[in-house]
Amino acid sequence: MKKNVGNKYIGAHVSAAGGVDQAPMRARDIGANAFALFTKNQRQWVAKPLEAKTISAFKANCKMLGFSAEHILPHDSYLINLGAPEQEKLEKSRAAFIDEMERCNQLGLTLLNFHPGSHLKKISEQECLAKIAESINLAHQAVPNVIAVIENTAGQGTNLGWRFEHIAEIIEQVEDKSRVGVCIDTCHTFVAGYDLRTFEACEATFAEFDRVVGMEYLKAMHINDSKIELGGKVDRHHALGKGEIGWSCFEYIAQDARFDGIPLILETIEPELWPQEIEFIRSAHLQSLDN
Ligand SMILES: [Zn+2]
Ligand SMILES: [Zn+2]
Repeated sequence: MKKNVGNKYIGAHVSAAGGVDQAPMRARDIGANAFALFTKNQRQWVAKPLEAKTISAFKANCKMLGFSAEHILPHDSYLINLGAPEQEKLEKSRAAFIDEMERCNQLGLTLLNFHPGSHLKKISEQECLAKIAESINLAHQAVPNVIAVIENTAGQGTNLGWRFEHIAEIIEQVEDKSRVGVCIDTCHTFVAGYDLRTFEACEATFAEFDRVVGMEYLKAMHINDSKIELGGKVDRHHALGKGEIGWSCFEYIAQDARFDGIPLILETIEPELWPQEIEFIRSAHLQSLDN
């Protein structure tokens, strides 16, 4: 008998060591029905192309284990800065991003999660956001099918995307709005200054997101607690319930249908807790369906 999982797709960022085709099994092993992965080494600019046998093994494993493309959230390399002030770095980043998008497309995946970019104090926020949008437009022209999923950031250093207004300003300049989306990371949201500690705070924060960006753009979430206090602008994830955000936020997400059908991805710091964290969200969700 197939286990009832409701409408929540919950998983974690799993390792792709030994090949991307190994990731679906790791997700299955923690009780996930969604997952995130890197499709190449995230700390290197260039990777060798995916081999045909790896691509077909990945697709076969996803099919066998019941993972579909809209619940798989590849993350791009940390080196990429799509808003880079210097032309050389910008071009290198755009080429690498297009390669990431191409790898997703080859794997039959439709989402690509990335951090928008940094102005490095060399250009204005506005110029940086415009470069990011242009980078997305160029990637759309180069590769079909894949949605560019902008992740909100913690606001550390000169990274943009921590205010919902930044994300809205990028989306506004993207030509194909059917292929741009947002991934809200709860830890980043919180340290950027949006409270999530109570149901009321969550209501207010997501109402603000809806007003500024629009819930229709929400394609994924990163579910993390935070070691850092509200508005601290430093990105330090914590296990669910152990940090400054606390359980209420994760219960809220589990119970609210606006977060159904999209990948909810743990990037929490104790992988040995992932099965329990997934189970917690799932049971909170199923309980809310009974009521
Ligand atoms: Zn994240
Ligand atoms: Zn983070």
